Amino acid sequence: ETLDKGLEKSKDNFLSKMSKAVAGKSKVDEDVLDDLEEVLISSDVGVTTTIKIIRRIEERVARDKYLGTAELNEILKEEIAGLLSETDSGDTDGFNFKSDGKPYVIMVVGVNGVGKTTTIGKLAYQFKKDGKKVLLGAADTFRAAAIDQLQIWADRTQVPMIKQQMGSDPASVAFDAVQSGVTQGSDVVIIDTAGRLHNKVNLMNELTKVKRVMQKVIPGAPHEVLLVLDGSTGQNAFEQAKQFTAATEVTSLAVTKLDGTAKGGVVIGISDQFKIPVKYIGIGEGLEDLQVFNKFEFVDSFFK
Ligand code: GDP
Repeated sequence: ETLDKGLEKSKDNFLSKMSKAVAGKSKVDEDVLDDLEEVLISSDVGVTTTIKIIRRIEERVARDKYLGTAELNEILKEEIAGLLSETDSGDTDGFNFKSDGKPYVIMVVGVNGVGKTTTIGKLAYQFKKDGKKVLLGAADTFRAAAIDQLQIWADRTQVPMIKQQMGSDPASVAFDAVQSGVTQGSDVVIIDTAGRLHNKVNLMNELTKVKRVMQKVIPGAPHEVLLVLDGSTGQNAFEQAKQFTAATEVTSLAVTKLDGTAKGGVVIGISDQFKIPVKYIGIGEGLEDLQVFNKFEFVDSFFK
């Protein structure tokens, strides 16, 4: 999938609502701004970020005295890209792989069903294609299906995987995986973790323990904690981001399933509000359907 194709639904939804909002109007006035506010909120940009965007456009209207509705899209693009730049939440390079020693350890967190396993598979594929030696760790030991699913991706991408039987200690699997990564000379170790929705304290304890054992092998590990969010769930994704960032230090985000949804605006809101870089976006089910997030390209595709 290309980015334009992947964001098609979000864009069509946005554009059709926008064209209603500006129908018969040549100038951006109070009414148009009210409608625009509604359009942004219903595109899942989120209330806080929408208000920021509207303020900026109001300022521009006041400054320039006159703003034509024909230019509104262009202005939105500029203001949103500006907003994302200010919060420095739009990294364009993916992971930087700089660490104090090999391997670079990525711990992946997120609720079941958001596309965590698929995202790990796609990352493994990309890293391997870039010439890196990759190892997976199946530390979601809570469900047998989770281990099997990850195994399928390991086979598909021909990347080794460390696992134990279902029900074993996730921290023990994580330890084994990082240790094997060192022994095998891996460049990257990607660790899957359990995604069941348990209470905050349990989640925190479990993730803390998994991190602690990795640090016994490599003091700086994990070098990334990647939170995977399902973009098609809109406001739920915000809620999950809140819960996980409260439970552990999340360093980067991946937002999946943007191809199947009209809620793509969620990327803009999340990236503005959480000040954590969105590094990857998922725009399909295939191996290649994971892109490094670039805020300019994203905004460009969205408001085309
Ligand atoms: P997990 O439970 O979080 O590990 O979720 P999975 O990786 O098993 O994914 C759940 C479903 O979402 C699967 O059917 C995937 O094919 C699908 N999926 C994952 N990422 C994407 C994406 O970017 N686009 C689409 N359309 N589907 C996706």
